[in-house]
Amino acid sequence: MARYLGSVCKLCRREKEKLFLKGERCSSNCALDTKRGKNAPGQHGISKSKMSDYAKHLREKQKARRIYGLTEEQFSHYYVTAERMPGSTGDNLLKLLELRLDNVVYRLGFAASKNMARQTVNHGNITVNGKKIDVPRYQVKAGDIISVAEKYKENAYVKNLVEKPSPNVPAWLSFNKDKVEGSVVSEPLVGETSQSINSQLIVEYYSK
Ligand code: SF4
Repeated sequence: MARYLGSVCKLCRREKEKLFLKGERCSSNCALDTKRGKNAPGQHGISKSKMSDYAKHLREKQKARRIYGLTEEQFSHYYVTAERMPGSTGDNLLKLLELRLDNVVYRLGFAASKNMARQTVNHGNITVNGKKIDVPRYQVKAGDIISVAEKYKENAYVKNLVEKPSPNVPAWLSFNKDKVEGSVVSEPLVGETSQSINSQLIVEYYSK
């Protein structure tokens, strides 16, 4: 399935929740803050019927998939991998998603949104332990150092980043503003993902 290229605000309206898909721009002028924006898009958007059990599971899976900008196939691949790992499948799934390089780039503030983070990685502007990595799905691990490539330090967004207060990075990451680099302190713990996702509902969705 191809990547979704339509309005990202429609995705939040579909999930009836702010998914912050535009990054910093979501803090002002959010479609969900308007009366119309509270309805799901489309002619059946105003439907008040109670959500079925299946729909609840489906919506949680879709929400997670949209937060990380993945296609259906990519997301189910993560699920299969999480299932094969020892421990809780739901926790493993969120850990795998959170440790994607594009997500870490966004969490470190090197990009204003997840989309921008994916492009930044794709364009070869990010290094991991000094080596250029242009694969957004690359899995970082504890101890990795994530930096912006020398040529990208001249980019207006990065220059501005240095002048702004340090971004609020989660406890499992650290950020060194002077060097414009971050490091993975540890693997993310349960509850340290970008947004609240009920991974149990996703596990139940795939177990049906
Ligand atoms: Fe979602 Fe951001 Fe659009 Fe609000 S502004 S609907 S949070 S993408």
